[in-house]
Amino acid sequence: MKQYNFMEPWFDSKEQQAVHDYMGSGGWVTEYEKTRELEKLIASFTGAKYCAMVPNCTIALSIAVMALNAKGDVIVPDYTMIASANAVSLVGGRPKLVDVESSSFCLDLQSMKNKVNVATRAVILVSMNGRYPYKFDEILEYCKDEHIYVIEDAAQSFGSFCNGKHVGTYGEIGCFSFSMHKTISMGQGGALITDDDDLYAEIKSLKNFGRITENSDLHNSIGYNFHFTDLQAVVGIEQMKKLSYRIKRKKEINALYRELLQDVFIFPETRDDTLLWLNDVLSMRKDELRKKLMEKGIGTRDSYPGLHTQNPYQQQGGDFSGSSSAARNVFYLPSSSQLTDDDIQYICSTIKTVIK
Ligand SMILES: *Cc1c(COP(=O)(O)O)cnc(C)c1O
Repeated sequence: MKQYNFMEPWFDSKEQQAVHDYMGSGGWVTEYEKTRELEKLIASFTGAKYCAMVPNCTIALSIAVMALNAKGDVIVPDYTMIASANAVSLVGGRPKLVDVESSSFCLDLQSMKNKVNVATRAVILVSMNGRYPYKFDEILEYCKDEHIYVIEDAAQSFGSFCNGKHVGTYGEIGCFSFSMHKTISMGQGGALITDDDDLYAEIKSLKNFGRITENSDLHNSIGYNFHFTDLQAVVGIEQMKKLSYRIKRKKEINALYRELLQDVFIFPETRDDTLLWLNDVLSMRKDELRKKLMEKGIGTRDSYPGLHTQNPYQQQGGDFSGSSSAARNVFYLPSSSQLTDDDIQYICSTIKTVIK
Protein backbone atom coordinates (compact mmCIF):
# COMPACT_ATOMS: atom_id res chain seq x y z
CA MET A 1 0.00 0.00 0.00
CA LYS A 2 1.28 3.44 -0.90
CA GLN A 3 1.90 5.79 2.01
CA TYR A 4 1.40 9.52 1.81
CA ASN A 5 2.50 11.93 4.49
CA PHE A 6 0.24 14.95 4.66
CA MET A 7 3.32 17.10 3.98
CA GLU A 8 7.05 16.65 3.41
CA PRO A 9 10.02 18.96 2.99
CA TRP A 10 11.77 18.57 -0.36
CA PHE A 11 15.55 18.51 -0.48
CA ASP A 12 17.73 16.81 -3.08
CA SER A 13 21.33 16.55 -4.26
CA LYS A 14 21.53 20.34 -4.75
CA GLU A 15 21.19 21.04 -1.03
CA GLN A 16 23.51 18.14 -0.26
CA GLN A 17 26.17 19.53 -2.59
CA ALA A 18 25.74 23.10 -1.31
CA VAL A 19 26.22 22.04 2.33
CA HIS A 20 29.22 19.94 1.34
CA ASP A 21 30.80 22.80 -0.61
CA TYR A 22 30.08 25.27 2.18
CA MET A 23 31.71 23.09 4.84
CA GLY A 24 34.67 22.60 2.51
CA SER A 25 35.04 26.35 2.05
CA GLY A 26 36.02 26.95 5.67
CA GLY A 27 32.86 28.88 6.53
CA TRP A 28 32.24 29.44 10.23
CA VAL A 29 28.66 28.16 10.05
CA THR A 30 27.21 31.10 11.96
CA GLU A 31 25.35 34.02 10.29
CA TYR A 32 27.53 35.76 7.72
CA GLU A 33 27.72 36.27 3.96
CA LYS A 34 25.51 33.34 2.92
CA THR A 35 22.76 34.73 5.15
CA ARG A 36 23.18 38.16 3.49
CA GLU A 37 22.84 36.47 0.09
CA LEU A 38 19.65 34.67 1.13
CA GLU A 39 18.19 37.88 2.58
CA LYS A 40 18.80 39.65 -0.73
CA LEU A 41 17.07 36.83 -2.63
CA ILE A 42 14.01 36.99 -0.35
CA ALA A 43 13.85 40.80 -0.44
CA SER A 44 14.06 40.75 -4.21
CA PHE A 45 11.47 37.97 -4.63
CA THR A 46 8.94 39.66 -2.34
CA GLY A 47 9.70 43.19 -3.54
CA ALA A 48 10.61 44.36 -0.03
CA LYS A 49 13.47 46.80 0.59
CA TYR A 50 14.94 44.79 3.47
CA CYS A 51 14.91 41.23 4.77
CA ALA A 52 16.35 39.91 8.03
CA MET A 53 16.70 36.18 8.70
CA VAL A 54 15.96 34.84 12.20
CA PRO A 55 15.69 31.33 13.70
CA ASN A 56 11.95 30.91 13.09
CA CYS A 57 8.73 32.80 12.38
CA THR A 58 7.57 32.83 16.01
CA ILE A 59 10.70 34.81 16.87
CA ALA A 60 10.17 36.97 13.76
CA LEU A 61 6.71 37.96 15.02
CA SER A 62 8.02 38.66 18.54
CA ILE A 63 10.78 40.85 17.08
CA ALA A 64 8.19 42.69 14.99
CA VAL A 65 6.15 43.48 18.11
CA MET A 66 9.30 44.67 19.92
CA ALA A 67 10.61 46.71 16.97
CA LEU A 68 7.30 48.56 16.72
CA ASN A 69 7.15 48.96 20.50
CA ALA A 70 3.68 47.46 20.32
CA LYS A 71 3.66 45.47 23.57
CA GLY A 72 0.09 46.47 24.48
CA ASP A 73 -3.11 44.90 23.24
CA VAL A 74 -2.52 43.18 19.93
CA ILE A 75 -5.40 41.95 17.77
CA VAL A 76 -4.97 38.33 16.62
CA PRO A 77 -7.41 36.29 14.53
CA ASP A 78 -8.93 33.32 16.36
CA TYR A 79 -8.37 30.91 13.47
CA THR A 80 -4.60 30.54 13.08
CA MET A 81 -1.64 28.52 14.22
CA ILE A 82 -1.17 29.31 17.91
CA ALA A 83 2.28 30.89 17.31
CA SER A 84 0.54 34.04 15.98
CA ALA A 85 -0.74 34.72 19.50
CA ASN A 86 2.09 33.15 21.51
CA ALA A 87 4.66 35.39 19.80
CA VAL A 88 2.78 38.37 21.24
CA SER A 89 2.58 36.80 24.70
CA LEU A 90 6.31 35.99 24.62
CA VAL A 91 7.25 39.67 24.69
CA GLY A 92 4.60 40.70 27.22
CA GLY A 93 1.88 41.82 24.80
CA ARG A 94 -1.76 40.85 25.24
CA PRO A 95 -3.31 38.98 22.29
CA LYS A 96 -6.96 39.99 21.77
CA LEU A 97 -8.79 37.41 19.72
CA VAL A 98 -11.20 38.35 16.95
CA ASP A 99 -13.28 36.29 14.54
CA VAL A 100 -12.43 35.50 10.90
CA GLU A 101 -14.33 35.89 7.63
CA SER A 102 -16.13 32.67 6.76
CA SER A 103 -14.93 32.87 3.13
CA SER A 104 -11.18 33.59 3.47
CA PHE A 105 -10.65 32.34 7.06
CA CYS A 106 -8.74 35.61 7.62
CA LEU A 107 -9.41 38.43 10.07
CA ASP A 108 -12.91 39.92 10.08
CA LEU A 109 -12.96 43.72 10.12
CA GLN A 110 -16.19 44.21 12.08
CA SER A 111 -15.06 41.75 14.72
CA MET A 112 -11.77 43.65 14.98
CA LYS A 113 -13.58 46.98 15.37
CA ASN A 114 -15.55 45.51 18.28
CA LYS A 115 -12.31 44.67 20.13
CA VAL A 116 -10.20 47.76 19.41
CA ASN A 117 -9.75 50.21 22.27
CA VAL A 118 -7.21 52.83 23.40
CA ALA A 119 -4.75 50.09 24.44
CA THR A 120 -4.67 48.51 20.95
CA ARG A 121 -1.21 48.90 19.44
CA ALA A 122 -1.04 46.43 16.58
CA VAL A 123 -2.73 43.65 14.66
CA ILE A 124 -1.20 40.33 13.62
CA LEU A 125 -2.77 40.03 10.19
CA VAL A 126 -2.54 36.35 9.29
CA SER A 127 -2.83 35.33 5.65
CA MET A 128 -4.20 31.86 6.32
CA ASN A 129 -3.06 29.35 3.75
CA GLY A 130 -1.86 32.16 1.49
CA ARG A 131 -5.24 33.94 1.42
CA TYR A 132 -5.82 37.50 2.50
CA PRO A 133 -9.05 38.99 3.87
CA TYR A 134 -11.71 40.06 1.38
CA LYS A 135 -11.78 43.41 3.16
CA PHE A 136 -7.98 43.74 3.08
CA ASP A 137 -7.98 47.34 1.75
CA GLU A 138 -10.55 48.42 4.32
CA ILE A 139 -8.63 46.75 7.15
CA LEU A 140 -5.40 48.51 6.11
CA GLU A 141 -7.19 51.83 5.88
CA TYR A 142 -8.89 51.36 9.25
CA CYS A 143 -5.55 50.49 10.91
CA LYS A 144 -3.95 53.59 9.41
CA ASP A 145 -6.76 55.83 10.67
CA GLU A 146 -6.64 54.27 14.14
CA HIS A 147 -2.81 54.25 14.36
CA ILE A 148 -2.70 50.48 14.69
CA TYR A 149 0.46 48.85 13.36
CA VAL A 150 0.00 46.00 10.90
CA ILE A 151 2.30 43.02 11.39
CA GLU A 152 1.66 40.47 8.66
CA ASP A 153 1.97 36.87 9.76
CA ALA A 154 2.64 35.53 6.27
CA ALA A 155 4.11 32.27 7.60
CA GLN A 156 1.80 30.31 5.29
CA SER A 157 2.11 32.69 2.34
CA PHE A 158 5.56 32.56 0.84
CA GLY A 159 4.85 32.72 -2.93
CA SER A 160 1.36 34.19 -2.52
CA PHE A 161 0.45 37.56 -4.03
CA CYS A 162 -2.36 40.07 -3.63
CA ASN A 163 -3.00 42.42 -6.57
CA GLY A 164 0.52 41.88 -7.90
CA LYS A 165 2.26 42.60 -4.58
CA HIS A 166 3.63 39.80 -2.40
CA VAL A 167 1.61 39.07 0.73
CA GLY A 168 3.63 40.39 3.68
CA THR A 169 4.57 43.67 1.98
CA TYR A 170 1.37 45.48 2.96
CA GLY A 171 2.02 45.83 6.69
CA GLU A 172 4.81 47.69 8.50
CA ILE A 173 6.56 44.32 8.82
CA GLY A 174 5.88 40.94 7.19
CA CYS A 175 7.03 37.62 8.65
CA PHE A 176 7.66 34.29 6.93
CA SER A 177 8.34 30.77 8.15
CA PHE A 178 10.65 28.19 6.62
CA SER A 179 9.91 25.37 9.05
CA MET A 180 9.84 21.83 7.74
CA HIS A 181 6.24 21.94 6.44
CA LYS A 182 6.32 25.30 4.67
CA THR A 183 6.61 25.73 0.86
CA ILE A 184 10.38 26.00 1.06
CA SER A 185 12.30 25.03 4.17
CA MET A 186 15.64 25.25 5.91
CA GLY A 187 14.46 22.82 8.59
CA GLN A 188 13.74 25.87 10.72
CA GLY A 189 13.91 29.51 9.72
CA GLY A 190 12.08 32.80 9.74
CA ALA A 191 12.34 36.13 7.94
CA LEU A 192 11.16 39.67 8.55
CA ILE A 193 10.65 42.03 5.62
CA THR A 194 10.12 45.78 5.75
CA ASP A 195 10.57 48.90 3.61
CA ASP A 196 11.29 51.12 6.61
CA ASP A 197 14.94 52.09 7.25
CA ASP A 198 14.48 52.71 10.99
CA LEU A 199 12.52 49.52 11.58
CA TYR A 200 15.16 47.52 9.74
CA ALA A 201 17.90 49.06 11.91
CA GLU A 202 15.87 48.22 15.03
CA ILE A 203 15.32 44.62 13.87
CA LYS A 204 19.05 44.19 13.15
CA SER A 205 19.91 45.52 16.59
CA LEU A 206 17.30 43.38 18.39
CA LYS A 207 18.67 40.20 16.81
CA ASN A 208 22.26 41.19 17.65
CA PHE A 209 22.24 41.86 21.44
CA GLY A 210 21.19 45.51 20.94
CA ARG A 211 24.56 46.42 19.42
CA ILE A 212 24.67 49.90 17.89
CA THR A 213 26.61 48.52 14.91
CA GLU A 214 27.35 44.98 13.78
CA ASN A 215 30.56 44.35 15.74
CA SER A 216 30.40 47.07 18.40
CA ASP A 217 30.30 46.31 22.12
CA LEU A 218 28.20 49.41 22.69
CA HIS A 219 24.50 48.83 23.27
CA ASN A 220 21.75 51.43 23.21
CA SER A 221 18.95 49.05 24.05
CA ILE A 222 18.33 45.49 25.20
CA GLY A 223 18.69 43.03 22.36
CA TYR A 224 19.04 39.28 22.11
CA ASN A 225 20.66 36.58 20.03
CA PHE A 226 18.35 35.78 17.15
CA HIS A 227 21.02 35.09 14.56
CA PHE A 228 20.49 32.73 11.66
CA THR A 229 23.23 30.35 10.45
CA ASP A 230 25.03 30.27 7.10
CA LEU A 231 24.67 26.50 7.14
CA GLN A 232 20.90 26.92 6.86
CA ALA A 233 21.33 29.83 4.45
CA VAL A 234 23.11 27.66 1.87
CA VAL A 235 20.12 25.30 1.99
CA GLY A 236 17.80 28.31 1.70
CA ILE A 237 19.64 29.64 -1.36
CA GLU A 238 19.11 26.29 -3.13
CA GLN A 239 15.45 26.24 -2.06
CA MET A 240 14.95 29.74 -3.49
CA LYS A 241 16.15 28.50 -6.89
CA LYS A 242 13.28 25.99 -6.84
CA LEU A 243 10.60 28.36 -5.61
CA SER A 244 9.08 29.36 -8.96
CA TYR A 245 8.75 25.73 -9.98
CA ARG A 246 7.15 24.84 -6.65
CA ILE A 247 4.64 27.65 -6.92
CA LYS A 248 3.66 26.46 -10.38
CA ARG A 249 3.49 22.83 -9.29
CA LYS A 250 1.47 23.57 -6.16
CA LYS A 251 -1.09 25.40 -8.29
CA GLU A 252 -1.28 22.47 -10.72
CA ILE A 253 -1.79 20.03 -7.86
CA ASN A 254 -4.59 22.12 -6.40
CA ALA A 255 -6.28 22.45 -9.80
CA LEU A 256 -6.15 18.67 -10.25
CA TYR A 257 -7.68 18.05 -6.82
CA ARG A 258 -10.44 20.51 -7.69
CA GLU A 259 -11.13 18.81 -10.99
CA LEU A 260 -11.18 15.27 -9.61
CA LEU A 261 -13.05 15.98 -6.38
CA GLN A 262 -15.48 18.70 -7.42
CA ASP A 263 -18.47 16.44 -6.68
CA VAL A 264 -17.05 15.27 -3.37
CA PHE A 265 -15.99 18.38 -1.46
CA ILE A 266 -16.59 22.09 -1.34
CA PHE A 267 -13.37 23.90 -2.22
CA PRO A 268 -12.97 27.27 -0.49
CA GLU A 269 -12.94 30.22 -2.88
CA THR A 270 -9.44 31.16 -4.01
CA ARG A 271 -8.18 34.07 -6.07
CA ASP A 272 -5.75 33.53 -8.95
CA ASP A 273 -2.69 35.12 -7.38
CA THR A 274 -3.15 33.21 -4.11
CA LEU A 275 -0.74 30.36 -3.57
CA LEU A 276 -2.49 27.79 -1.41
CA TRP A 277 0.17 26.32 0.82
CA LEU A 278 -2.15 23.42 1.68
CA ASN A 279 -4.96 21.85 -0.33
CA ASP A 280 -7.94 22.74 1.86
CA VAL A 281 -11.44 21.33 1.49
CA LEU A 282 -14.67 21.57 3.47
CA SER A 283 -16.48 18.49 4.72
CA MET A 284 -19.01 17.96 7.47
CA ARG A 285 -17.84 14.35 7.84
CA LYS A 286 -14.14 15.08 8.03
CA ASP A 287 -13.33 13.21 11.28
CA GLU A 288 -14.66 9.90 9.98
CA LEU A 289 -13.11 10.49 6.57
CA ARG A 290 -9.68 11.41 7.90
CA LYS A 291 -9.63 8.25 10.00
CA LYS A 292 -10.54 6.04 7.05
CA LEU A 293 -7.91 7.70 4.85
CA MET A 294 -5.30 7.17 7.55
CA GLU A 295 -6.12 3.44 7.47
CA LYS A 296 -5.47 3.56 3.71
CA GLY A 297 -2.07 5.19 4.25
CA ILE A 298 -3.13 8.72 3.29
CA GLY A 299 -2.20 11.41 5.78
CA THR A 300 -4.32 14.55 6.06
CA ARG A 301 -4.25 17.44 8.46
CA ASP A 302 -7.07 18.73 10.62
CA SER A 303 -8.08 22.39 10.85
CA TYR A 304 -6.76 24.55 13.68
CA PRO A 305 -9.01 24.63 16.76
CA GLY A 306 -10.09 28.24 17.46
CA LEU A 307 -7.56 29.84 19.81
CA HIS A 308 -10.40 30.75 22.19
CA THR A 309 -10.84 27.00 22.81
CA GLN A 310 -7.16 26.52 23.73
CA ASN A 311 -6.20 26.50 27.38
CA PRO A 312 -4.06 29.69 27.46
CA TYR A 313 -6.70 31.80 25.69
CA GLN A 314 -9.96 30.36 27.00
CA GLN A 315 -10.94 33.37 29.07
CA GLN A 316 -11.48 35.52 25.97
CA GLY A 317 -15.10 36.23 25.11
CA GLY A 318 -16.68 37.17 21.81
CA ASP A 319 -18.45 35.73 18.82
CA PHE A 320 -16.18 33.29 17.03
CA SER A 321 -18.69 31.76 14.63
CA GLY A 322 -16.45 32.13 11.52
CA SER A 323 -13.52 30.52 13.29
CA SER A 324 -15.67 27.75 14.80
CA SER A 325 -17.13 26.90 11.43
CA ALA A 326 -13.62 26.70 9.90
CA ALA A 327 -12.48 24.48 12.76
CA ARG A 328 -15.51 22.22 12.22
CA ASN A 329 -15.35 21.86 8.44
CA VAL A 330 -11.87 22.55 7.06
CA PHE A 331 -9.26 19.87 6.60
CA TYR A 332 -6.19 19.55 4.43
CA LEU A 333 -5.45 16.92 1.75
CA PRO A 334 -1.87 15.73 1.08
CA SER A 335 0.04 18.84 0.04
CA SER A 336 3.68 18.03 -0.71
CA SER A 337 4.97 19.72 -3.85
CA GLN A 338 6.58 16.48 -5.05
CA LEU A 339 3.25 14.65 -5.48
CA THR A 340 2.90 13.48 -9.08
CA ASP A 341 -0.30 13.53 -11.11
CA ASP A 342 -0.49 9.76 -10.62
CA ASP A 343 -0.24 10.23 -6.86
CA ILE A 344 -3.13 12.72 -6.94
CA GLN A 345 -5.20 10.35 -9.10
CA TYR A 346 -4.57 7.56 -6.61
CA ILE A 347 -5.39 9.74 -3.60
CA CYS A 348 -8.59 11.02 -5.20
CA SER A 349 -9.82 7.58 -6.23
CA THR A 350 -9.13 6.29 -2.72
CA ILE A 351 -11.14 9.19 -1.29
CA LYS A 352 -14.03 8.35 -3.61
CA THR A 353 -13.95 4.66 -2.61
CA VAL A 354 -13.82 5.47 1.09
CA ILE A 355 -16.72 7.90 0.85
CA LYS A 356 -19.07 5.40 -0.79
C1 LIG B 1 4.08 27.99 10.84
C2 LIG B 1 3.41 29.19 11.39
C3 LIG B 1 3.99 30.03 12.37
C4 LIG B 1 5.23 29.64 13.11
O1 LIG B 1 6.34 29.53 12.33
P1 LIG B 1 7.67 28.87 12.95
O2 LIG B 1 8.70 29.16 11.91
O3 LIG B 1 7.39 27.41 13.10
O4 LIG B 1 7.95 29.53 14.26
C5 LIG B 1 3.36 31.20 12.70
N1 LIG B 1 2.18 31.54 12.16
C6 LIG B 1 1.56 30.76 11.25
C7 LIG B 1 0.27 31.22 10.67
C8 LIG B 1 2.14 29.55 10.87
O5 LIG B 1 1.51 28.76 9.99
